[in-house]
Amino acid sequence: MEYDESMLVQRIGEMKLFPETESSHMTLHCAHCNTVLGDSYGICGDFSIKHMDSIMCLKVTDDVVISDPMESGHKGDLANCICSALKCRVCCCDVGKVIHSAPSHLATIRSLFLLYKAKISCYILDSSSMVRASKLTFHMKPLREHINEVRQQVEAQLNQMSHANSRLTSVTSDLNK
Ligand SMILES: [Zn+2]
Repeated sequence: MEYDESMLVQRIGEMKLFPETESSHMTLHCAHCNTVLGDSYGICGDFSIKHMDSIMCLKVTDDVVISDPMESGHKGDLANCICSALKCRVCCCDVGKVIHSAPSHLATIRSLFLLYKAKISCYILDSSSMVRASKLTFHMKPLREHINEVRQQVEAQLNQMSHANSRLTSVTSDLNK
């Protein structure tokens, strides 16, 4: 796939960004029956379009049942998408959606679990309190920051490797003397 700078900027623009310190550990629950559906380790941000404020998650628990994929029709914000409804295994409530295939302007949410904020409660571990997800904004580190961090890590590893390599070369040449 080609790297598309405009997509990156668009993605950052769509999300509400918060500094790392504001993120807290939490579990995500079905607002109806309190079954655990996910946790803060799986959360990757906020996503909202008309009538659908959602938490984007990379993973959810086994208590989230993924229904058969369906076409979303040709109208509305999710026009021409193929998505599955997500249901709570215990109470069968609709708790979200996963979009398998979508037009390019929705490419950023493909294959992510979108949990409807209106159907989710959050148990905040630090304060031992249950809060409606609709009251919260979900932290997401800006993508550019992530990329810079990874780049720095890779560069540091490369440095170490070339350092080790030069030491190895000098040891070998000493041995050969
Ligand atoms: Zn439930």
